Amino acid sequence: TDIEQQDTVVVIGLGRFGSALALELTRRGTEVLAIDHRPKLVQSYTGQITQVAVADSTDLDALQRLGVPDFRRAVCAIGSDIQASILTASLLVELEIDDIWAKAVSKQHGEILRRVGVRHVVFPEHDMGERVARLVSGRLLDYMEVDENFAMAKIRPPRDFVGIALGDSSLRSRYGLTIVAVKRPDEEFTYATADTELAYDDMIIVSGPPDRIERFAELP
Ligand code: ADP
Repeated sequence: TDIEQQDTVVVIGLGRFGSALALELTRRGTEVLAIDHRPKLVQSYTGQITQVAVADSTDLDALQRLGVPDFRRAVCAIGSDIQASILTASLLVELEIDDIWAKAVSKQHGEILRRVGVRHVVFPEHDMGERVARLVSGRLLDYMEVDENFAMAKIRPPRDFVGIALGDSSLRSRYGLTIVAVKRPDEEFTYATADTELAYDDMIIVSGPPDRIERFAELP
Protein backbone atom coordinates (compact mmCIF):
# COMPACT_ATOMS: atom_id res chain seq x y z
CA THR A 1 0.00 0.00 0.00
CA ASP A 2 1.06 3.60 -0.40
CA ILE A 3 1.02 3.99 3.39
CA GLU A 4 4.25 2.02 3.58
CA GLN A 5 6.10 4.47 1.34
CA GLN A 6 4.96 7.55 3.17
CA ASP A 7 6.10 9.29 6.29
CA THR A 8 3.36 7.95 8.55
CA VAL A 9 2.86 7.34 12.27
CA VAL A 10 0.10 5.78 14.40
CA VAL A 11 -0.52 7.58 17.67
CA ILE A 12 -2.59 5.73 20.25
CA GLY A 13 -4.15 7.80 23.03
CA LEU A 14 -5.10 11.44 22.58
CA GLY A 15 -4.43 12.64 26.12
CA ARG A 16 -2.25 15.68 26.74
CA PHE A 17 0.94 13.95 25.56
CA GLY A 18 -0.52 12.04 22.61
CA SER A 19 -2.52 14.98 21.27
CA ALA A 20 0.46 17.35 21.43
CA LEU A 21 2.56 14.72 19.68
CA ALA A 22 -0.03 14.02 16.96
CA LEU A 23 -0.60 17.73 16.29
CA GLU A 24 3.12 18.47 16.08
CA LEU A 25 3.73 15.52 13.74
CA THR A 26 0.88 16.72 11.52
CA ARG A 27 2.30 20.25 11.55
CA ARG A 28 5.66 18.82 10.39
CA GLY A 29 4.02 17.13 7.42
CA THR A 30 3.85 13.60 8.80
CA GLU A 31 0.66 11.66 8.12
CA VAL A 32 -0.84 10.63 11.45
CA LEU A 33 -3.49 8.09 12.31
CA ALA A 34 -4.62 8.91 15.85
CA ILE A 35 -6.69 6.41 17.82
CA ASP A 36 -8.55 6.90 21.10
CA HIS A 37 -11.58 5.16 22.61
CA ARG A 38 -13.26 8.41 23.67
CA PRO A 39 -15.55 9.43 20.75
CA LYS A 40 -15.98 13.07 21.81
CA LEU A 41 -12.24 13.55 22.18
CA VAL A 42 -11.53 11.95 18.82
CA GLN A 43 -14.19 14.09 17.18
CA SER A 44 -12.59 17.26 18.53
CA TYR A 45 -9.41 16.52 16.57
CA THR A 46 -11.13 15.88 13.23
CA GLY A 47 -9.51 18.06 10.59
CA GLN A 48 -6.56 18.90 12.84
CA ILE A 49 -4.88 15.50 12.59
CA THR A 50 -4.56 13.68 9.24
CA GLN A 51 -6.81 10.79 10.27
CA VAL A 52 -8.59 10.02 13.54
CA ALA A 53 -10.44 6.90 14.66
CA VAL A 54 -12.45 5.75 17.65
CA ALA A 55 -11.27 2.33 18.77
CA ASP A 56 -10.10 0.31 21.74
CA SER A 57 -6.41 -0.21 21.12
CA THR A 58 -6.35 -3.34 23.28
CA ASP A 59 -8.51 -5.03 20.63
CA LEU A 60 -6.32 -6.70 18.00
CA ASP A 61 -9.16 -6.94 15.45
CA ALA A 62 -9.84 -3.23 15.76
CA LEU A 63 -6.18 -2.40 15.12
CA GLN A 64 -6.16 -4.68 12.09
CA ARG A 65 -9.36 -3.15 10.72
CA LEU A 66 -7.74 0.29 10.94
CA GLY A 67 -4.70 -0.88 8.99
CA VAL A 68 -2.30 -0.41 11.89
CA PRO A 69 -0.11 -3.35 10.74
CA ASP A 70 0.78 -1.37 7.60
CA PHE A 71 2.48 1.37 9.59
CA ARG A 72 6.19 1.32 10.21
CA ARG A 73 6.05 3.55 13.28
CA ALA A 74 3.70 3.70 16.27
CA VAL A 75 3.53 5.60 19.53
CA CYS A 76 1.60 4.29 22.52
CA ALA A 77 0.71 7.48 24.38
CA ILE A 78 -1.53 5.91 27.01
CA GLY A 79 -0.26 6.74 30.48
CA SER A 80 -2.64 6.54 33.38
CA ASP A 81 -4.28 3.25 32.35
CA ILE A 82 -1.15 1.12 32.66
CA GLN A 83 -2.90 -2.13 31.76
CA ALA A 84 -4.20 -0.63 28.52
CA SER A 85 -0.75 0.80 27.79
CA ILE A 86 0.99 -2.55 28.21
CA LEU A 87 -1.61 -4.52 26.32
CA THR A 88 -1.58 -2.00 23.46
CA ALA A 89 2.21 -1.96 23.33
CA SER A 90 2.38 -5.76 23.26
CA LEU A 91 -0.09 -5.84 20.36
CA LEU A 92 2.04 -3.34 18.44
CA VAL A 93 5.02 -5.66 19.02
CA GLU A 94 2.95 -8.65 17.89
CA LEU A 95 1.99 -6.76 14.72
CA GLU A 96 5.72 -6.42 14.04
CA ILE A 97 5.76 -2.66 13.71
CA ASP A 98 9.42 -1.69 13.26
CA ASP A 99 9.64 1.40 15.32
CA ILE A 100 7.59 1.41 18.52
CA TRP A 101 7.62 4.25 21.03
CA ALA A 102 5.75 4.27 24.33
CA LYS A 103 5.25 6.70 27.16
CA ALA A 104 5.83 5.41 30.69
CA VAL A 105 4.58 7.03 33.88
CA SER A 106 6.90 5.18 36.24
CA LYS A 107 10.14 3.23 36.26
CA GLN A 108 8.26 -0.08 36.63
CA HIS A 109 5.90 0.81 33.81
CA GLY A 110 8.91 1.56 31.61
CA GLU A 111 10.55 -1.70 32.61
CA ILE A 112 7.49 -3.73 31.59
CA LEU A 113 7.20 -1.86 28.28
CA ARG A 114 10.82 -2.70 27.51
CA ARG A 115 10.22 -6.33 28.44
CA VAL A 116 7.30 -6.70 26.04
CA GLY A 117 9.61 -5.42 23.31
CA VAL A 118 9.18 -1.65 23.06
CA ARG A 119 12.47 -0.21 21.82
CA HIS A 120 11.90 3.44 22.72
CA VAL A 121 10.42 4.13 26.14
CA VAL A 122 10.04 7.78 27.12
CA PHE A 123 9.31 9.32 30.52
CA PRO A 124 7.90 12.78 29.74
CA GLU A 125 6.88 13.84 33.27
CA HIS A 126 10.04 12.57 34.90
CA ASP A 127 12.35 14.09 32.26
CA MET A 128 10.56 17.41 32.26
CA GLY A 129 10.73 17.52 36.06
CA GLU A 130 14.49 17.07 35.96
CA ARG A 131 14.85 19.62 33.25
CA VAL A 132 12.80 22.24 35.07
CA ALA A 133 14.74 21.57 38.28
CA ARG A 134 17.95 22.47 36.45
CA LEU A 135 16.46 25.64 35.05
CA VAL A 136 14.88 26.68 38.37
CA SER A 137 17.88 26.08 40.59
CA GLY A 138 20.77 27.22 38.50
CA ARG A 139 21.91 29.86 36.11
CA LEU A 140 21.02 27.71 33.12
CA LEU A 141 18.80 29.67 30.76
CA ASP A 142 18.17 26.65 28.60
CA TYR A 143 19.35 23.09 28.80
CA MET A 144 19.29 19.98 26.67
CA GLU A 145 20.69 16.58 27.46
CA VAL A 146 21.82 15.09 24.15
CA ASP A 147 22.97 11.84 25.69
CA GLU A 148 23.44 10.47 29.20
CA ASN A 149 26.86 12.06 29.43
CA PHE A 150 26.59 15.00 27.08
CA ALA A 151 24.56 18.15 27.32
CA MET A 152 24.31 21.67 25.94
CA ALA A 153 23.34 24.69 27.98
CA LYS A 154 22.69 28.36 27.42
CA ILE A 155 24.23 30.51 30.16
CA ARG A 156 25.91 33.86 30.87
CA PRO A 157 29.70 33.59 31.06
CA PRO A 158 31.23 33.33 34.56
CA ARG A 159 33.27 36.40 35.60
CA ASP A 160 36.69 34.75 35.16
CA PHE A 161 36.02 33.99 31.53
CA VAL A 162 35.18 37.54 30.54
CA GLY A 163 37.72 39.57 28.60
CA ILE A 164 40.15 36.82 27.65
CA ALA A 165 40.36 34.80 24.47
CA LEU A 166 38.74 31.38 24.83
CA GLY A 167 41.95 29.81 23.58
CA ASP A 168 43.76 31.30 26.59
CA SER A 169 41.13 30.25 29.13
CA SER A 170 41.41 27.03 31.11
CA LEU A 171 37.97 25.94 30.05
CA ARG A 172 39.01 22.72 28.31
CA SER A 173 41.72 21.67 30.76
CA ARG A 174 40.00 22.70 34.01
CA TYR A 175 36.35 22.15 33.23
CA GLY A 176 36.42 19.73 30.31
CA LEU A 177 33.87 21.89 28.49
CA THR A 178 33.66 23.55 25.11
CA ILE A 179 31.96 26.82 24.31
CA VAL A 180 30.24 26.22 21.04
CA ALA A 181 28.60 29.54 20.28
CA VAL A 182 28.34 33.10 21.50
CA LYS A 183 25.63 35.70 21.19
CA ARG A 184 26.18 39.42 21.72
CA PRO A 185 23.10 41.41 22.75
CA ASP A 186 20.87 42.09 19.73
CA GLU A 187 22.95 39.82 17.53
CA GLU A 188 22.60 36.22 16.42
CA PHE A 189 24.55 33.27 17.77
CA THR A 190 27.88 32.73 15.98
CA TYR A 191 30.38 29.90 16.40
CA ALA A 192 33.02 30.51 19.04
CA THR A 193 36.71 30.31 18.08
CA ALA A 194 39.96 30.33 20.05
CA ASP A 195 40.11 34.11 19.51
CA THR A 196 36.60 34.83 20.80
CA GLU A 197 36.58 37.11 23.84
CA LEU A 198 33.49 36.98 25.99
CA ALA A 199 31.72 40.01 27.47
CA TYR A 200 29.49 40.16 30.57
CA ASP A 201 26.30 40.52 28.64
CA ASP A 202 27.07 37.75 26.15
CA MET A 203 25.08 34.56 26.07
CA ILE A 204 27.03 31.36 25.47
CA ILE A 205 26.25 27.79 24.50
CA VAL A 206 28.47 25.43 26.43
CA SER A 207 28.69 21.68 25.82
CA GLY A 208 30.04 18.72 27.78
CA PRO A 209 29.14 16.38 30.65
CA PRO A 210 26.05 17.56 32.61
CA ASP A 211 27.74 17.64 36.04
CA ARG A 212 30.58 19.77 34.65
CA ILE A 213 28.17 22.14 32.99
CA GLU A 214 26.35 22.57 36.30
CA ARG A 215 29.59 23.30 38.14
CA PHE A 216 30.62 25.80 35.49
CA ALA A 217 27.24 27.51 35.55
CA GLU A 218 27.49 27.98 39.31
CA LEU A 219 30.73 29.98 39.09
CA PRO A 220 30.24 33.65 39.98
P1 ADP B 1 -1.89 12.20 29.37
O1 ADP B 1 -1.27 12.23 30.75
O2 ADP B 1 -0.89 12.41 28.28
O3 ADP B 1 -3.10 13.07 29.24
P2 ADP B 1 -3.57 9.86 29.64
O4 ADP B 1 -3.11 8.53 30.06
O5 ADP B 1 -4.38 10.65 30.62
O6 ADP B 1 -2.32 10.67 29.16
O7 ADP B 1 -4.42 9.76 28.30
C1 ADP B 1 -4.37 8.66 27.51
C2 ADP B 1 -5.42 8.68 26.43
O8 ADP B 1 -5.50 7.34 25.95
C3 ADP B 1 -6.82 9.06 26.89
O9 ADP B 1 -7.36 10.02 26.00
C4 ADP B 1 -7.60 7.75 26.83
O10 ADP B 1 -8.94 7.93 26.39
C5 ADP B 1 -6.84 6.94 25.81
N1 ADP B 1 -6.96 5.51 26.05
C6 ADP B 1 -6.80 4.85 27.22
N2 ADP B 1 -7.02 3.54 27.06
C7 ADP B 1 -7.33 3.34 25.75
C8 ADP B 1 -7.65 2.21 24.95
N3 ADP B 1 -7.71 0.98 25.48
N4 ADP B 1 -7.91 2.40 23.65
C9 ADP B 1 -7.85 3.64 23.10
N5 ADP B 1 -7.53 4.73 23.78
C10 ADP B 1 -7.28 4.60 25.10
